[in-house]
Amino acid sequence: MTASAQTRKAVVVGSGIAGTAAAYRLRQAGYDILLLEQENHLGGRMSSYTKDGDGAQYRIDRGASWLSHNYRPMIELLEETGLASRMLPCSNELGVLRDGRVHRLSFVRPSDLLRTRLFGWRSKLKAVNLLRDLGTARRVLRWHDMSKAAGIDTENARDYALRRLDRPLLDYLVEPLCSTQFLVPAEEVAAVGTFCIMWGTFGAASFTFDGGIGQLPTLLLDLPLMRTERTRVETNAQVTDVRPDGDGVRVTWESGGTRHTENTDACVVAVPGPAAAGIVASLTDDQRSYLDGLRYTSDVHVTFGLREAPRETALGISVPRVEHPDLCVVLFEHNLGPGRAPAGRGLVTLLFRHHWSAERLALDDTRIVDDSLTALRETLPGLAAHIVGHRDMTTVQRWDRAVLARPAGGYRDLARFTGSLDPRSPIQLAGDHFSYSTTNASMTTGEQAARRIISAAGPTT
Ligand SMILES: Cc1cc2nc3c(=O)[nH]c(=O)nc-3n(C[C@H](O)[C@H](O)[C@H](O)COP(=O)(O)OP(=O)(O)OC[C@H]3O[C@@H](n4cnc5c(N)ncnc54)[C@H](O)[C@@H]3O)c2cc1C
Repeated sequence: MTASAQTRKAVVVGSGIAGTAAAYRLRQAGYDILLLEQENHLGGRMSSYTKDGDGAQYRIDRGASWLSHNYRPMIELLEETGLASRMLPCSNELGVLRDGRVHRLSFVRPSDLLRTRLFGWRSKLKAVNLLRDLGTARRVLRWHDMSKAAGIDTENARDYALRRLDRPLLDYLVEPLCSTQFLVPAEEVAAVGTFCIMWGTFGAASFTFDGGIGQLPTLLLDLPLMRTERTRVETNAQVTDVRPDGDGVRVTWESGGTRHTENTDACVVAVPGPAAAGIVASLTDDQRSYLDGLRYTSDVHVTFGLREAPRETALGISVPRVEHPDLCVVLFEHNLGPGRAPAGRGLVTLLFRHHWSAERLALDDTRIVDDSLTALRETLPGLAAHIVGHRDMTTVQRWDRAVLARPAGGYRDLARFTGSLDPRSPIQLAGDHFSYSTTNASMTTGEQAARRIISAAGPTT
């Protein structure tokens, strides 16, 4: 131990929801916390920012923008911390574009699948297979560790849909779900991924926070328990090395050109898999190559602040691949919550499939905005004209590693990886690489990492 049992110290690397949840749980167990974040802001892929328009302010989510009451562990944490009072309801409708018409379905009512005109009766009969298979799959789905799904990880989502469902259900349900969640086509992700999305999405209402969902990591760090000298948060602090040192851990980090070393009792590394592979010295070659090889898809998305909101009640419109090869979702962020755009104004985001984004990561904003509007004109020309006519603010967000797209067999690889980790090690990993990319999954992995550290260390005296 680097310190007495009364003053256990832990370093948490990464201030995303996995890192902030781990920091909260460790602090709750009596640890002193040093939280290190390489960016100049907190929250990682769960963060929000304000952008000015002409006399108006827009509140924009950088990454994640949607939360569900299916996120039970998150809701439990919100209730436990008193933050549930900050939750706000938002639209529960999602539109799906087919042949120029938008069909609106509710997340809350999976039975809409049977009522909608999006599908004919043959497809609706086949949809029963999907609900049945989902019922079987949900028995092995765990937010904090999807490796339990290894036993049902036998094929990709496209093969599954063609085997158990039919072509319209592939084109207008499975494929859009895969594109929306993973940003890649159904053949590039495991069928298990489709079950994860449906499990996390269907049958419960959506919620948000006033001013963006990125408030959650910040709210956690702002709790009275965290706002003492026993929690230190450093931004612009890039961790370069985490290694065992005696019974404890040595963490090296750089900030403003200066190198720092911290000797600590334990460390939670809550960064995306490939980033963890680059800094955790104690990983085996197999563990490192697994994390390095994880496929995170890219996302370049464009958000428009509008002087007038378009007439749309849904949270978003999903654009199936058969309708457009590049554009995959149009999000009406002003329908997420009252704080996103001033009353009457609109906030619309265009999200694209991985291949489109990957080609544009290095392009300048003007070119990206032009290309995004071209795609929208080819898909929803009325909305494109509305945006051009009422545009007040435009912003582009780039994510090199946006979300994890696990191919068929990926959950079996995950099971081998998690089986090789030492639950008693003072260095614990957390992040969406243990699950599927959602804020709730990452949060639970952070909590689990903290619990493993607390349990291995034994009770404080
Ligand atoms: C565009 C987009 C849309 C999404 N939509 C949704 C959605 O609607 N709903 C939903 O639930 N989920 C959504 N997700 C997924 C969700 O945002 C992520 O799965 C989740 O937020 C990841 O949290 P995390 O803490 O594991 O990782 P991150 O949020 O990535 O946090 C990791 C942090 O570690 C920092 N870091 C990395 N390396 C180092 C280092 N060496 N030293 C110090 N700091 C380091 C990073 O800067 C980052 O802040 C979306 C993601 C994206 C990108």
